[in-house]
Amino acid sequence: MQVSPPNGFEKGKFLEMLEAAIAPWNVTGAGPVIELSETDVEVTTPAFDGMNSIFIHPNWEWDPGLLALTFTHVDKASQTILEADIALNPDHNWVYEIPEDDATAFDLQSAFAHEFGHVLGIPDLKEFPDATMFGEIQSFEDKKRDLNVSDEECMRSLYEGKELTEPFDPNADYSGGGGGCQSTDLATPLASLGLLVLLRRKRSTPHTHR
Ligand SMILES: [Zn+2]
Repeated sequence: MQVSPPNGFEKGKFLEMLEAAIAPWNVTGAGPVIELSETDVEVTTPAFDGMNSIFIHPNWEWDPGLLALTFTHVDKASQTILEADIALNPDHNWVYEIPEDDATAFDLQSAFAHEFGHVLGIPDLKEFPDATMFGEIQSFEDKKRDLNVSDEECMRSLYEGKELTEPFDPNADYSGGGGGCQSTDLATPLASLGLLVLLRRKRSTPHTHR
């Protein structure tokens, strides 16, 4: 994927964070390996343009509660993802490491680990709150950096046809998907899959202070 100039972020650090975010997916060995490269092209909107772009959206035009969005272009006949773009919403308090005492901070690496999963065709896993592909992220949270068993099984199900030990409910409403991994709805020409903010209020979560 091509990384546009990460306006507002320090480029070296941003790229390093992206490499760390994609690594757990690449090491599964199940799907395509995603490689990152820099580009000077200033991408401002997702497009089916021959580039798999990662960019900071200059003027976030979607739900402000969304942290990031992945857009995939899919060939319906072969159920193949042809292109994917990731847009980051810059209007949040992004950090490289979770600070001790800032309830508004969101972990960049966790968010990108999640979006890379969408690039690979994995839907939000609503029933698996510990999964990287669970569709919500809390401030202070960085557990999405590592894949859990559901994420990895999804990869192996999608790319290696492995059966899931804990099958997904085909009637459940998986946003961005059509009922779990094996029947991910790839029929939408432009599927946007977001990562929702779940702002954690310190007062209501006495068990999780750090
Ligand atoms: Zn998602």
